Amino acid sequence: MASRKAEATKAAANAVFVPELVERPVARRIFAKLAKHHHDAHCELDHRNPFELLVATVLSAQSTDVMVNQVTPELFRRWPTPEALARADVAAVEKVLSRLGMYRQKTRNIIGLSRAITEKHGGTVPKSLAELVELPGVGRKTANVVLGVAFGAPEGVVVDTHVQRLSQRLGFTRHGDPKEIEQDLMQLFPRKDWDRLAHVLIFHGRRICTARRPACAACPVQRECPSAFRAELVGRKPARVRKPAKSQTARA
Ligand code: SF4
Repeated sequence: MASRKAEATKAAANAVFVPELVERPVARRIFAKLAKHHHDAHCELDHRNPFELLVATVLSAQSTDVMVNQVTPELFRRWPTPEALARADVAAVEKVLSRLGMYRQKTRNIIGLSRAITEKHGGTVPKSLAELVELPGVGRKTANVVLGVAFGAPEGVVVDTHVQRLSQRLGFTRHGDPKEIEQDLMQLFPRKDWDRLAHVLIFHGRRICTARRPACAACPVQRECPSAFRAELVGRKPARVRKPAKSQTARA
């Protein structure tokens, strides 16, 4: 009896669920329903211009938007432009950012990108993906946030941890790598929806389809979603089977 229970526990730990991929019309219906439900979905990083959005997005890596919004008012009060931040004292900026994870690295990046914007782009944030990803600390995800939110001209889809998880659960992709997920989303949805798609998925991921205990019963796409009520098993890696310790092997 005890061994059956142990086997059942082991099977549950190993359980992985791979949802069916949905067809394009279904994917678009899911997005339409989610967009209606989260009609107020928007970028939750406070900013007043493209430069502030760029800096806030760089700061948001491995930090919550709430935490970033707590430090940026002071940061932009003291150094409101790329020119000002380019000349800032490193220790003073570090002090303002010290509540964020990796604040030393982030300080180097935002001062570095401010210098590059000042020296190479005449003090204005560049408007192309190719130029943005050349700036220190700016990857494809950050660049797409700025292009979509500040300029209304995304060159791709922002794939953060929420977009990654939801794209897998909703059957939009079978990939785990953000770049491949982005390509799948760009194939499924028209360019005009790329920016809004990311905000809607992020809102849904924060409020309903959370990483742990997603609220499937309250979800507006419960009928279309191939992972409904099994979502926590999606994207999971099977538990590793432990080798018995040498002493145990010897005893046996
Ligand atoms: S039904 Fe569940 S798994 Fe599917 S999107 Fe809704 S909350 Fe997420």
